[in-house]
Amino acid sequence: MRDFTLAKYRELCEAVLKGYEPMTVKSYLMQNPSGSVVIMRHDVDRKPESALRMAELEKEMGIKSTYYFRMKKGVFRKDIIKKIASMGHEIGYHYEVLDKAKGNFEKAIRIFEEELKAFRKIYDVKTICMHGNPLSKWINRDLWSVYDFRNFDIIGEPYISIDYKKVLYLTDTGRNWSTKFSVKDIVNVRSVLYDIKSTDDVIQVLNDRRIEQICISVHPNRWSRNFGEWLKEFVWQNIKNVGKTGVRLYDRSFR
Ligand SMILES: [Zn+2]
Repeated sequence: MRDFTLAKYRELCEAVLKGYEPMTVKSYLMQNPSGSVVIMRHDVDRKPESALRMAELEKEMGIKSTYYFRMKKGVFRKDIIKKIASMGHEIGYHYEVLDKAKGNFEKAIRIFEEELKAFRKIYDVKTICMHGNPLSKWINRDLWSVYDFRNFDIIGEPYISIDYKKVLYLTDTGRNWSTKFSVKDIVNVRSVLYDIKSTDDVIQVLNDRRIEQICISVHPNRWSRNFGEWLKEFVWQNIKNVGKTGVRLYDRSFR
C-alpha cells in the first residue's frame, strides 16, 4: 500500500486505538494523564478540505483530535471549521503573527488578538500552536517570551506546554517521518533503536508499546485520497526538497 494515503492513515489510527488512548491537545493539558496516550495534532497549513476528510475518518473510528487552522484566505474556512468541530474534534489557532508583523512584537500581539477574536466568533479556541515557516527568519512562539498567552484565556501551546522529555514527538515532515531515537528496554536491559521513515515504522512503535506517551503531528494536506492527488503531492514535495538543499531550509520547529 502506498504511504501517505488516507488508507495508510487509517492503519495508523487502528494502531493507536489498539494500545493507546487518543487525546486532543486540550484534553491532554487539562487532564495531565499518566497512562498510555497519543496526542493527535494536525496543522492545517493548506487544503482545508483534506483536513475535513481526515476528521471524518477519525470520527468514524471514534477518535478526537486537534486541528490547528492558519488564519489565511482559503485555509480559514468557517464552514469546514464548524463541520470539524461538530464531530467533536478540537479546533485551535495555528498562528504566524511574528511572520505577519515582520518581527514587530507589539504589532504581532495585536494581530494575534484580532485573529483569535475571529476564531472565537465560531469556536471557543483554548489551545494555539505556532506555524513554522521555513522561509521566515522569525519563530512565532518567541512571542511568548514577551507576552503570556494565558492572558488571552489560552491554556496551552504544544511547543511550550508539552514536556517532550516525557512525550515522544513524531511528525510527518513532507512525506517522511525521519526520526531516530532509542528506548531503554527495561526487561532486557538493552536499547532498542528506532529508525522511523515510513508510517509503517510509526505503527511498529505503537505496536511495541515501549513508549507510554506520544504526540503525533500530521499535516492532512500531505495525505491523499487517490493516486492523482498522491502524485501531485509527490511532485510538490520534491520541488520543495530541491529548494531546501538550495537555500538550506530546515524545520525550525525545534530550535
Ligand atoms: Zn504549519
